Amino acid sequence: MIDALAHFEVRPDSPALSERQSSMSEAQLTEAAVREVLNGVRDPEIGRGLVELKMIDSVALPGPQAVRVQVALPTHAYPGRERIAGAIQQALAARFPGAQAETAFVVRTQGKDSGGGLGLRAKNVVAVGSGKGGVGKSTVAASLAFGLQTYGAKVGLMDADVYGPSIPHMLGAHGQPQVVEQQTAAGQPVRRILPIECSGLKVMSMGFFVPADEAVVWRGPMLHGAITQFLRDTDWGELDYLIIDLPPGTGDVSLTLSQLLGLAGAVVVCTPQQVALLDAVKAVAMFRKVKIPVLGMVENMTGEIFGRGGVQKKAGELGVPFLGEIPIDSQLRINGDEGKLADNFAESNPSRPYLQHVCEQTAMQIAKQLLSEPRMPTLEIL
Ligand code: ADP
Repeated sequence: MIDALAHFEVRPDSPALSERQSSMSEAQLTEAAVREVLNGVRDPEIGRGLVELKMIDSVALPGPQAVRVQVALPTHAYPGRERIAGAIQQALAARFPGAQAETAFVVRTQGKDSGGGLGLRAKNVVAVGSGKGGVGKSTVAASLAFGLQTYGAKVGLMDADVYGPSIPHMLGAHGQPQVVEQQTAAGQPVRRILPIECSGLKVMSMGFFVPADEAVVWRGPMLHGAITQFLRDTDWGELDYLIIDLPPGTGDVSLTLSQLLGLAGAVVVCTPQQVALLDAVKAVAMFRKVKIPVLGMVENMTGEIFGRGGVQKKAGELGVPFLGEIPIDSQLRINGDEGKLADNFAESNPSRPYLQHVCEQTAMQIAKQLLSEPRMPTLEIL
């Protein structure tokens, strides 16, 4: 899918160019020469060469003085892609004066694809956790899911906060998931649960099965069974991201997830005051213990009441990326209460840029981790 085009006229009168021209003769425009130039262009987010990162999808020479470079972005939520186009244009202008350069983008979401053993076709599974309840974990989980989808990604949202499943309410998602009979590739009949589709997201939650005012009492093995079933038996289809809203604090569900698949990582949500930070530190330690990489920390409810900057400072101390802050804003609360979480992404909503920033940073952390480590094959559990 080509979702953005940037055209650049190479201006032979640019100062950088005339300097270069005096020191070197004009290079011949060939694909190999273009690739050589691109070899030296760094990705502004990851800081490594575009060729090394396998982000150059194709190079074409549609005319004697025309170059078309197609760049593969690792996520739909890549921030400021025009910076890549600018860097390519600058490098090509310096080497091929008079040539016309055009940069196009495609998105090839990178992922661990680790759900193979469960039949889960999600490239990246991201858990959202917190040290304690009430800090906005579900709000951030739902915003990540909805936000990533607004960039064009295919996203599912699984509410594993079985003790207080608030995702259906926040999204205004209703109904009871249907169970249907399907066939495996080998022709075996299987029963699959159809997730509820809401605001373009595929959503699954215990809240769809249990009346809102009823308490659910879970023993460890039941919890493990329910989470496994949600992952394995739900017809998620193909997803770029499956976002999981964890119950606060406890390591039970995280341990189950860690045993079932290789998560892209966990996002820890916290408010900035000291008392809350103590719990967030425990949440980070818990994820580390169950071998789930911590993608970063989000500061929620930044403002006069709880303060500002505490989470960023703590993230620095813990050696964990800081993914952004979300100011306290009554409209966020109202939209959550009214089941209109999607409205937080309306253009006029002041929270929108903060939420988008968190989405972009989270997606980029995943991409950075994947691109910096060699890919391991997924083990099929037979
Ligand atoms: P948790 O999942 O951690 O228990 P929730 O996401 O349910 O927390 O949020 C708790 C309450 O705080 C909800 O009413 C929600 O709408 C509200 N809330 C979350 N983030 C913000 C914010 N940044 N500003 C205002 N209210 C918020």
